[in-house]
Amino acid sequence: MRNSILEAAEILKAAKYTIAFTGAGISAESGIPTYRGKGGVWLETNPKILELSFFLQNPEETWAQIRDKFYRYFGKITPNSAHYTLSNWQTKGFLCDIITQNIDHLHQDAGCHSVHEFHGTLHSLSCVHCGKQYKASTIDMHTLPFCTACSKRRNFLKPNFVFFGEGIPEKAYDASIKAAEKADVCIIIGTSGLVRPAATIPHFAHENGTKIIEINLEPSNYTDSISDVFLAGKATEILAQIDAVM
Ligand code: NAD
Repeated sequence: MRNSILEAAEILKAAKYTIAFTGAGISAESGIPTYRGKGGVWLETNPKILELSFFLQNPEETWAQIRDKFYRYFGKITPNSAHYTLSNWQTKGFLCDIITQNIDHLHQDAGCHSVHEFHGTLHSLSCVHCGKQYKASTIDMHTLPFCTACSKRRNFLKPNFVFFGEGIPEKAYDASIKAAEKADVCIIIGTSGLVRPAATIPHFAHENGTKIIEINLEPSNYTDSISDVFLAGKATEILAQIDAVM
């Protein structure tokens, strides 16, 4: 296992097609708790409210909890320097795709493109009946929002993040697999690698010969299995150190 910034930079400089695979850890320094970390609101959440069938049957009862747990950061948080470093690398041609498990839209807010949101997004909602799309910023969140376009009775809106019992968005899934197939380097940032099927993407890339650079505060599921370089520390600091020698 290698663990030097210079080795990571050399691998990145020699790469023809680099992808990033990100998790909650990259947004932690923007102030959003991780999933399993201390204060992780998601762990305190009753998992039932994230089950698609429960939500569809009990939308009014579930909405207030979804709003309070998931939308409490919405519009109040901004990208941190780790998101901006990735955006900068895309501009310079060092980084192609970003596959993210995050639903917070911070990669795009930092100016990133080719962001494949494996677990969907908080940023928009859709009508459970007609599928009409709504930007979250245009919705009154106080009570369960309803579709203004279709005439069905229970035409409420569902956030476009992936609930338990719901498939991965097809477009994001296909784009992620394509990117992983093309990549000769994958940089994994701030994920425990425990949530499947997302967690299998770096393994899939590794099986195709992709080199793996990992950044995390602590070893993850990937560290001793597929990571070629493991850099321990905060995403903002490690990415800044790599950037300085690129
Ligand atoms: P996780 O909570 O399981 O793991 C987070 C990882 O990030 C840990 O390994 C931790 O050591 C690391 N980490 C924490 N702070 C870091 C930092 N400053 N720099 C580098 N690494 C850091 O999260 P996960 O693996 O992404 O899986 C959780 C699931 O929950 C995902 O599916 C995701 O959709 C969802 N989630 C999303 C958000 C978000 O959108 N910001 C937040 C929480 C959870």
